[in-house]
Amino acid sequence: MDYRNMTDETVLIDLMLDVGHRLWARGYVAANDGNMSVRIGKDELLITPTGVSKGFMTRDMIIRMTMDGKVVSPEGKYRPSSEYRMHVQVYRERDDIASVVHAHPPYCTAFAVAGIPLDKCALPEAVLMLGAVPVVPYGTPSTEELPDSIKEYIKKGDAILLANHGALTAGADLHSAYQRMETLEHTAKIMHLAMGLGNVNILSKKQITKLLEVREKMKISGRIKLSEKK
Ligand SMILES: [Zn+2]
Repeated sequence: MDYRNMTDETVLIDLMLDVGHRLWARGYVAANDGNMSVRIGKDELLITPTGVSKGFMTRDMIIRMTMDGKVVSPEGKYRPSSEYRMHVQVYRERDDIASVVHAHPPYCTAFAVAGIPLDKCALPEAVLMLGAVPVVPYGTPSTEELPDSIKEYIKKGDAILLANHGALTAGADLHSAYQRMETLEHTAKIMHLAMGLGNVNILSKKQITKLLEVREKMKISGRIKLSEKK
């Protein structure tokens, strides 16, 4: 299904259920981990609830809330993700972003625990979609520490590893934010395997320049920052 250019709230809610199921089915979240949101309008967002498996959500669980934390609907037993401040931080820093996905995919999270950024330009898709992915300093989940720790990094790129925690991706819509999470985990897995083989060949400056030209031509949305060592 093409998720792009869909703005109807019920359609967006159905897509959030679908993406939640994919995150769970692919093992990117365990138990009640993870959260996602979609910006609707200037000051509101749809967000997943806290304390619920993202693989088994139903429509009535998705919460509409304001950027300053007030629940608009539905009234009931579900509360918004305790990480909503992290989502709001992304929307405040980036006008071009309308969706945020946060998960704990095992390979991404292993790099985040090891403190190793995914900043080697070794795979074309990773260069095109993610750029160099930093590990941002640890922040206690559900507190202001996490929004503070991502603030500077999200200005430069759409994918971030959260130290000792997991990963966050952002996009112009839910489709692109989710796809970035898939690309990020796939990249982390391949890098882990290549590191295990004992060698990682990185792309040359010339090869990267060509990829950036392709990125321009394909009009890929979002921002990427490449490693300063290049
Ligand atoms: Zn988390």
